[in-house]
Amino acid sequence: MGLGTVTGAGATTTSLEDLIERAGGCAIVDGGFATQLEKHGASINDPLWSALCLIKDPELVKRVHLEYLEAGADILVTSSYQATIPGFLSRGLSIEEGEALLQKSVKLAVEARDKFWDEVQSIPGHSYNRALVAASIGSYGAYLADGSEYSGRYGPDVTLDKLKDFHRRRLQVLVEAGPDLLAFETIPNKIEAQACAELLDEENIQIPSWICFSSVDGENAPSGENFEECLGIINKSKKVNAVGINCAPPHFIESLICRFKQLTEKAIVVYPNSGEVWDGRAKRWLPSKCFDDNKFELFATRWRDSGAKLIGGCCRTTPSTIGAISRALKRSF
Ligand SMILES: [Zn+2]
Repeated sequence: MGLGTVTGAGATTTSLEDLIERAGGCAIVDGGFATQLEKHGASINDPLWSALCLIKDPELVKRVHLEYLEAGADILVTSSYQATIPGFLSRGLSIEEGEALLQKSVKLAVEARDKFWDEVQSIPGHSYNRALVAASIGSYGAYLADGSEYSGRYGPDVTLDKLKDFHRRRLQVLVEAGPDLLAFETIPNKIEAQACAELLDEENIQIPSWICFSSVDGENAPSGENFEECLGIINKSKKVNAVGINCAPPHFIESLICRFKQLTEKAIVVYPNSGEVWDGRAKRWLPSKCFDDNKFELFATRWRDSGAKLIGGCCRTTPSTIGAISRALKRSF
């Protein structure tokens, strides 16, 4: 397990910065996980969502990771987004079993990465990078599974300490499993961003991390708090290496990158959804008006040119989307 930090001649870069450089200035994050599991016939209509597959079909989890690597992903995000210890407890598992499943989510991604990298090195002139594994840490709202990761409304009882307590043990278990970095995803408000950033310090985490917000209006965090406030918190943290947006529709992304460029010097990461709209109450996707893989191909270069250093896809994007992004970015750098 590396510490994520490589010390060169007088300069210190993290494994994440190193990867971005190897990828030509913009690295590729993988795409929607649950979407791809469903394509292979997995049934994930469950509060644990794709985490269910860790129990029922770990080989399928690995297969989806491999599909994203083949498509050109430089970073695999683990299947732990909605995997939480309280979530597993509510399904009748013990704490030990829940923690073992969290570790398994990292282990499966690492195994897929190592297998792929072993194989690909025998291909002369291949254009792949050795991928990094990012342990996914979904927001508190993702655990509640009530759509609040898109409203940011956690209510008055959810304090900074409560959010830290919610995130702490999972963070410890995931880090012990040896990922290359941590990906906090669909954070909907300032208080949870603060909880995540402070926790990285309190737990003295030594691997790089990013914090991604969702956005439902294209301008603010879902809570309505503006990104100047939210990024102000993150800018104070030395432990957060990148900040950005995930699971917002693609047409919001370019202007949000430009806004984030004004607000932070940290690397910017974007992995929007396909543009279809998630109805959190009905738990289904409403049809998309807009995006297909061709559009992603077109937009990926614009997002890179606007300053994004990490680009991928979230819900309803597939290996085909990531393949399109990969070809577009590799063609034009
Ligand atoms: Zn998503």
